[in-house]
Amino acid sequence: MRRIAVLGSTGSIGTQTLEVVENHPDMEITALAAGSNIRLLEEQIRRFRPKVAAVWSEERAEELKARVADLDVRVEAGMDGLIAVATEASAQVVVTAVVGMIGIRPTIAAIQAGKDIALANKETLVTAGHLIIPMVRERGVRLLPVDSEHSAIFQCLNGEHGNRIHKILLTASGGPFRGKTREEMKNIQVEDALKHPNWSMGQKITIDSSTMVNKGLEVMEARWLFGVEMDQVQVVVQPQSIIHSMVEFEDGAVMAQLGTPDMKLPIQYALCWPERRPMGGERLDFWKLAEIRFEKPDFDNFPGLSLAYEAGRTGGSLPTVFNAANERAVSMFLNRKIGYLTITDIIESAMRRHTVIPNPSVEQILEAERDTYDYIESRW
Ligand code: NAD
Ligand code: MG
Repeated sequence: MRRIAVLGSTGSIGTQTLEVVENHPDMEITALAAGSNIRLLEEQIRRFRPKVAAVWSEERAEELKARVADLDVRVEAGMDGLIAVATEASAQVVVTAVVGMIGIRPTIAAIQAGKDIALANKETLVTAGHLIIPMVRERGVRLLPVDSEHSAIFQCLNGEHGNRIHKILLTASGGPFRGKTREEMKNIQVEDALKHPNWSMGQKITIDSSTMVNKGLEVMEARWLFGVEMDQVQVVVQPQSIIHSMVEFEDGAVMAQLGTPDMKLPIQYALCWPERRPMGGERLDFWKLAEIRFEKPDFDNFPGLSLAYEAGRTGGSLPTVFNAANERAVSMFLNRKIGYLTITDIIESAMRRHTVIPNPSVEQILEAERDTYDYIESRW
């Protein structure tokens, strides 16, 4: 039996993870955590019967407790709740599918408790990769990528017996505004930015995909997962999202992983690795697939990507500032408090004023996050 805990079970990755689990009789859910959707969480509890469930707000946790009083489940709240789910004793794997750097502490707690990590929550690795990677090695747990690009890279490295990566070719759809200038993006509304051409995902990552900040976060995620330098990761726009990423080896051979855009494949692969199991859904039909096109990303009109390279090359606390500023700016855009282009203006401004702390501790990362939020609040 594969026993699984899910952080962020009511979200896009969380619900698809539960669909995968349902299709495999040898998988079992032992713990679930969510933000505030207790209606869906209650349904999930009734269906999967976890031992522990957590909700972010105390009040909603009390409400949930009353609703599931007939079941044998412990309900917890807040950061303690997230950590209780991440460290639930019988779980072997923790799927980290919360959104944002709120995932840092529970992910670290899970690693320290000896759990394997199926990692969707990229913000955690971007901000605390220098702490997490050594911890993973020391505890001897596995860090299995769920992000489709990183799963593709991981699959390309299969059977390579430690052959060195020359370059990672990280593919990007380019998002809904590919080909537009900043001038043309001035009046973009929330509804426009939430329409991703190929993937259906949570709101924050959908906005991040439209600004290319998501790809910037993914370059930093790849750098930690695969132990390469920032400049060994080259972003390649591939508008149809059919090639999920590629690896170029030292002899010039390029390996790629292709497939339809469906997150259930990387989720299932992370949960079953190294086994491949049957999966339903649409398949690629190369007779119908007329072409696969490639483009260079537009760094000038999508400064989020250039700023991410800068943050990743500098390292220390700068990726935290990049990420925290983006998290806050995206939430302000979603609440219609700022215009679309202000998202990357805020990131740039927060990065420029920050004094970088090399090799920050968890406390220093969280302090840099708070400081960035305070700065943004005082200015916008
Ligand atoms: P989402 O917004 O759909 O879901 C987020 C989940 O986290 C929800 O269950 C929410 O309740 C929970 N959550 C949020 N704040 C919480 C808190 N404080 N405490 C407890 N739970 C909390 O997001 P998503 O699209 O599923 O993305 C999740 C993560 O996976 C992100 O880091 C994202 O970048 C990454 N990712 C997502 C996709 C995708 O296809 N959706 C693909 C690759 C990577
Ligand atoms: Mg991705």
